[in-house]
Amino acid sequence: MKEVRQVQVDRRLARGLRVKAHKAMSTNSSIERSLRPRQLIIGLQQHLGSMGEAMVSIGEKVTAGQKIAQPGTSPSAAIHAPMDGTVTAIGDWLLPNGTGPAIVIDVDAEDGDTQFSPPGYLDVSLLREAGIVGLGGAVFPTGDKVTYAGHCPTLLINGAECEPYISCDDMLMRERADSIARGSLYLLDLCDATTCIIGIESDKPEAFWAMSSALHELDDERLSLAEIPTVYPAGGERQLIQVLTGLEVSAGSYPPELGYLCQNVATAAAVDDLVRTGAPMTHRVVTVTGEGVKEPRNLWVPIGTPIADLIAHCGGYTGDVARLIMGGSMMGFALASDTIPITKATNCIVVETTDEVGEKTSERPCIRCGDCAYVCPATLLPQELYRHVAIHNWERLDELHLSECIECGCCDVVCPSHIPLTEHFRVAKRGAAMHKDEVQRAERAANRFGEHEKRIKAQLQAQQALQDNLKATARDPLDRAAALAAAKQRAAAKRTEQAD
Ligand code: SF4
Ligand code: SF4
Repeated sequence: MKEVRQVQVDRRLARGLRVKAHKAMSTNSSIERSLRPRQLIIGLQQHLGSMGEAMVSIGEKVTAGQKIAQPGTSPSAAIHAPMDGTVTAIGDWLLPNGTGPAIVIDVDAEDGDTQFSPPGYLDVSLLREAGIVGLGGAVFPTGDKVTYAGHCPTLLINGAECEPYISCDDMLMRERADSIARGSLYLLDLCDATTCIIGIESDKPEAFWAMSSALHELDDERLSLAEIPTVYPAGGERQLIQVLTGLEVSAGSYPPELGYLCQNVATAAAVDDLVRTGAPMTHRVVTVTGEGVKEPRNLWVPIGTPIADLIAHCGGYTGDVARLIMGGSMMGFALASDTIPITKATNCIVVETTDEVGEKTSERPCIRCGDCAYVCPATLLPQELYRHVAIHNWERLDELHLSECIECGCCDVVCPSHIPLTEHFRVAKRGAAMHKDEVQRAERAANRFGEHEKRIKAQLQAQQALQDNLKATARDPLDRAAALAAAKQRAAAKRTEQAD
């Protein structure tokens, strides 16, 4: 049996910040799998791209793993019932990103005996039908990602998990390393890659050891491991490629253009489940952590479970709760209520206390120190972006690659003026998208007006020709050929009018 191949990493290429991890509090116990909510609220927008289309009705009984929403137009993926139950509502509900359509299922006291059949193959339509999406946070439908990437020589499996507080991938690697390794091989074959690198941050020795043992067992020389420096945000796709290969994914381009396809470790495990058992994606691991929850830990959670159920399963609140965050402390966002359900994108719930939130320091003017630019992993100029965000200079923001901001929050952390730069950029990206939409609509309207003008001009020319012919015919009433031509022109002009 050969040694597991380890890819050497140039640590100098790791760009970003060293931030306090806060992970130990949720990694003391194994993933808890007994959570059984009474109700599931399953949003139809579970992934990037177009939402699923509900295919069940109120009052209908559903079984665990049954498809309840079919994929919309690509990119999209199906949605399945995680547990047996009855559909009690279909309509708008409070979801993580605002109000949106959802299917509500009242869960039965016990699941029946749902059996899946292993498909015995893997292709992109199977991924789409099984609802497999990227579980690293971006939730791009995996089938579409593989399709868009085309042939990629190298598959990167992302086990970096650099965001503070989040430990779901770490725990999954410790407990299901064999499944992640097999899933990686299935994905490698699917995208016709020749090699696969599994990247794990250096602060996860147990996960690294577990993955190393799994690769040893599989004994496939196409699989290799890389230990990457613990720097935030090393887990971003572009940052991972840079630290592993030295190649920079430039603004406006995508990893597949350099021959790399990235998938998350949890996605690889889901692919293994699908191929070996036929099970669609209905659950995920969620880290429930922070000083505001009594027993921080990782839970195996049915998609659609309200956050309050997760908190209750972790012993409840400690009493001093200032804020609920979905995601980690750097890229996560505050939630309005714990009635909101988890989605396939939810990797972590942080319950922050007043101490953790801290006193809000008032914002001061930018002193142009340049610290934000120094730490930006996307090599942007945050202070310049900030200047142009304030005056809605969309053209300049486009030139400064606002869209390349990964909203990592590094610039916020170092800014001595306490400017919430990331929040400004998040809002500005939505503003820029709306502006682009308006510009495109204005262009389409201008084009339509131009076409209309052309048609009017053609009609006037046809009418003029008709009148000229009539005049000619009137001068020579015996000229039958001219009369015939005039009649034809009249008919053609009429047809043009009708077509308009
Ligand atoms: S870190 Fe803050 S104060 Fe310094 S240049 Fe950037 S925005 Fe301005
Ligand atoms: S500008 Fe965007 S990518 Fe750069 S540090 Fe700030 S949040 Fe991160």
